[in-house]
Amino acid sequence: MPVPDTQENMMKCICMTCPTHNQCMKEKMEGFFCAKGKATCEFEKVSCVCATCPIYSEFSLGDSFYCEMGAAQ
Ligand code: SF4
Ligand code: SF4
Repeated sequence: MPVPDTQENMMKCICMTCPTHNQCMKEKMEGFFCAKGKATCEFEKVSCVCATCPIYSEFSLGDSFYCEMGAAQ
């Protein structure tokens, strides 16, 4: 399910606690990838904490690494 790109939803995103969320992403304040789409930063995939995020259950998401694959459809 697409995730509406709202401030309220963005506040629930936990990407910044994820081991994959690197310095570049922090400097560019990139996150909320399931709504915003792919990261512009280069990064190493470590693990993904999306499955433990409130947005994940709220919008019945089923994937991970939205920073790599882009926004949820
Ligand atoms: S599901 Fe992942 S990308 Fe989407 S809001 Fe949660 S932590 Fe962020
Ligand atoms: S989409 Fe998943 S892997 Fe990417 S930063 Fe967010 S929680 Fe981490």
